[in-house]
Amino acid sequence: MSEQDFNDGLSPATLAAQALGWEDEITGAVVPPLHVSTTYARDAGYGKRQGRSYIRDNGPSQSHAEAVVQALEGGADALSFASGIAACTAPFHALRQGDRVAVSRTMYHGVLSWLQLFGPERGLRVEYFDAGNLAGLGALLAAGDTRLVWLETPANPTWGVTDIAAAAKLAHRNGAVLAVDSTAATPVLTRPLALGADMVCHSATKYLNGHSDVLGGMLVTADAESALWQRICDHRLYAGPVLGSFEAHLLVRGLRTLYLRVPRQCENALSIARFLQEHPAVETTHYPGLSSDPGHRTACKQMHGGFGGMLSFCVPGGRDAAIAVANRARVFKRATSLGGVESLIEHRKSSESDVTDTPQNLIRASVGIESVDDLIADLDEMLATLA
Ligand SMILES: *Cc1c(COP(=O)(O)O)cnc(C)c1O
Repeated sequence: MSEQDFNDGLSPATLAAQALGWEDEITGAVVPPLHVSTTYARDAGYGKRQGRSYIRDNGPSQSHAEAVVQALEGGADALSFASGIAACTAPFHALRQGDRVAVSRTMYHGVLSWLQLFGPERGLRVEYFDAGNLAGLGALLAAGDTRLVWLETPANPTWGVTDIAAAAKLAHRNGAVLAVDSTAATPVLTRPLALGADMVCHSATKYLNGHSDVLGGMLVTADAESALWQRICDHRLYAGPVLGSFEAHLLVRGLRTLYLRVPRQCENALSIARFLQEHPAVETTHYPGLSSDPGHRTACKQMHGGFGGMLSFCVPGGRDAAIAVANRARVFKRATSLGGVESLIEHRKSSESDVTDTPQNLIRASVGIESVDDLIADLDEMLATLA
């Protein structure tokens, strides 16, 4: 049975759990081996077998991870990368000198840093809009020939939500392509391509793998034939930011439990956000699942089954107060990154480059799958330092 036949009519949770129903034709193994070969023998007619000849082009472990993520996102093609940031920056590498791009001002700091350090000197005209402010994006697009709109939703580190369907309409009306960094939402909660986006990007390091032991990225396209996608494929092939085989193998393993992990993380995060919102020592809680959150209405429209496992909160005082709170963590690990089964907490500004305006009193939490009572008790203890 081919992967295509298996996909027909089955839900994403099934496709993920069985890694597309993979089975070894010879041995019957239901778990794929780790393919370490860098090179693949030609057949008798000197043709490529299954299109393979060299690992930088594609290897079986990489192709499998790509096929799973492509199916979960409902895309036409997918490319894996050495890291999330390699996936995020690939479309910008593929653009041409003089191309205009519109990017949201609030997003993962690493992508902002790349754009500021390298965008202008490579001839990209980078313009910024406020996340969630579609009128601002509309004005930018009306003013010129923008090629690419890039946004992240929910967006680091305050989890603002942007209406993907509305942004896609605006982009397309003005001849631009829309790419969405959906790392925080995961395909479990949001499928940007179905909402009209042209490309969706993931740091696979986060939820897709889910166990804080793989660095990787994924880019999925709705149109495998577009000139931009072809240049992204060439960029990956000739610049070489490819996912390693062991990482691809681990990623397929991690993806199998995605549809168990994410709902639990959402459930835990919502309970924690409600606890923080009520806590007298907390100034503000940023979580799109709270009905008071500015992004809540849009989130209800485009996120299904939960609002994600990421939240942030601000405490009275500045940097020192926030660090003092994080320092008392016992169950939460005091570390950056997100999307793993273990809960993490961090003073966010300490992890970001200078390009962001994240307040010094903001604490970011990635909520894991632990008992929510333990997590809330831990936060209660941490916040007691402010009493
Ligand atoms: C972590 C992250 C990235 C970068 O991914 P790496 O795997 O660390 O390179 C990009 N976007 C978002 C939203 C992220 O959280």
